[in-house]
Amino acid sequence: MKLSDNARAVLERRYLKKQEGKVVEEPEDLLRRVAQHVAAVEAEAFHLPEAEVAALAEAYYRVMDEKKFMPNSPTLMNAGRELGQLSACFVLPIEDSMESIFESLKIAALIHKSGGGTGFSFSRIRPQNDQVGSTGGVASGPLSFLKVYNASTEAVKQGGTRRGANMGILRIDHPDILEFIDAKKNRGELTNFNLSVAVTDRFMEALDKDESYFLVNPRSRQPVGKLPAREVFEKIVRSAWENGEPGVVFIDRMNEANPTPNQGAIESTNPCGEQPLLPFESCNLGSLNLSQLVKACDGRFEVDWDELAAVTRLAIRFLDDVIEVNQYPIPQIEQITKGNRKIGLGVMGWADLLFKLRIPYNSEQAIQLAETVMNRIDMESKQASAALAEERGTFPNFTGSVYENKLKLRNATTTTIAPTGTISIICDTSGGIEPLFSLAFVRQIMDNDRLIEVNHAFAEIAKAEGFFSQELLEKLAETGSAADLPEIPEEWRKVFITAHEIDPEWHIRMQAAFQKYTDNAVSKTINFAHDATPEQVAEAYRLAYKLGCKGLTVYRDGSIDNQPMQKGLET
Ligand code: ADP
Repeated sequence: MKLSDNARAVLERRYLKKQEGKVVEEPEDLLRRVAQHVAAVEAEAFHLPEAEVAALAEAYYRVMDEKKFMPNSPTLMNAGRELGQLSACFVLPIEDSMESIFESLKIAALIHKSGGGTGFSFSRIRPQNDQVGSTGGVASGPLSFLKVYNASTEAVKQGGTRRGANMGILRIDHPDILEFIDAKKNRGELTNFNLSVAVTDRFMEALDKDESYFLVNPRSRQPVGKLPAREVFEKIVRSAWENGEPGVVFIDRMNEANPTPNQGAIESTNPCGEQPLLPFESCNLGSLNLSQLVKACDGRFEVDWDELAAVTRLAIRFLDDVIEVNQYPIPQIEQITKGNRKIGLGVMGWADLLFKLRIPYNSEQAIQLAETVMNRIDMESKQASAALAEERGTFPNFTGSVYENKLKLRNATTTTIAPTGTISIICDTSGGIEPLFSLAFVRQIMDNDRLIEVNHAFAEIAKAEGFFSQELLEKLAETGSAADLPEIPEEWRKVFITAHEIDPEWHIRMQAAFQKYTDNAVSKTINFAHDATPEQVAEAYRLAYKLGCKGLTVYRDGSIDNQPMQKGLET
């Protein structure tokens, strides 16, 4: 397996087996371990003959080794090892009781230890200063428990496989919503949480008509006040403009797409927002690397549709096997996860693919291609899941699901677009469906040595077209972008566009294009220039809602010090 230095470093830090602090596994061993462990379950669970299991393991190994498909991190870390917990995404319920609040806290700690991320809705917790029947005291409200969860995550992350990540959600009609919107105003607070407001259709309607909406006490289910929708919306927008949080999830839309409404309602997503789940449900993800699913034709690249379809089908089988071989933290999680058998296949390397195809990210052609690619993946994934259903049976909660009488499926969902934060580093490609942040990075090696790492597709084209030079690299590494470099022909400046030069509208349209053919949700950050106004951010929320997105995360350049990535700087 050809690995970049960065990929090797990431694997060594957390993924490869260690004994007494020393790495005792090569990356190839890791892929073999994962491929064999996942394939082996077919012998046990589906009576696949040994020879076929070996062939399957080889096929799984090959797509990972060729960096065409990668499962989510916990699968890479834990398959064939003691922990055996292979899923990235969990949602746990929090009822309005001490038992439930601290029971879920305990389960979350176990999940974090294994590298999974957890999402919670705090909406059922009674508001601050509400009555507490058994003690005669007053309630401390969801925010106080959110802080407890954050502190617990902080403590657990020391010993875990990676630092824990959480999503905290509060409904827009919860009486403590204003405090929630401000919860991360002070830097350094709730750092183990992403926060999102669950926005309802009713709220969006009130906003449209400039009306007030009711706040409801979840304990009594009684309206306890009213707020003008516009004021609350502006507060969310202002806060997101200032520090990128809270995000929003369109909760009613997520429930419209809930494939098993008879099993409960969706109230939260996983930490990065791409996976809405029912209480106690978990989901394992995997991603196709689009930048590797191309073929050369007359000196140009094009999407290799046959290979895309073949890898999709194999990936669906892999992810379905993972549900079988997975070791679940508690029985309730196992029960609902095996009941719905949700999996989430998505993509990474989208920006790199566009570079290879010479299509600017901010173009109608790119939006069209996004729809075509994702439609194809979704269709193939459904066919693969239907074929598995023929052999292995439908998901057990099929009766009463939205698919009953329509299409016999093995999995209640098949597609999700994850951020692919780590696996895209391992595959040395751009993350998820995000544009590149920077075309070149400076990497400090040893004391004084520095190395400029440049995007592969850019380097190739720059060499072929004769505008490659060390001087150009130095300039690129400084700003990250080709925009102000006249030595790069305009045609190529358009193609090699980076996140900051792309208007928010294009970011949102890209998210919506992928969402159109994705069962679950899409992880995406909408980038704004530093001088963007709150009104522009407000416009983005309205557009995302209009275009059918399931949620939105915005980030204004330079709005907080610890921005996720800085142009031209290795982080
Ligand atoms: P990866 O590339 O490592 O497979 P992603 O960046 O695609 O992971 O994230 C997918 C999901 O994995 C997240 O939404 C979250 O549920 C979980 N996750 C990511 N990072 C962490 C983390 N540090 N701790 C716990 N869970 C995480």
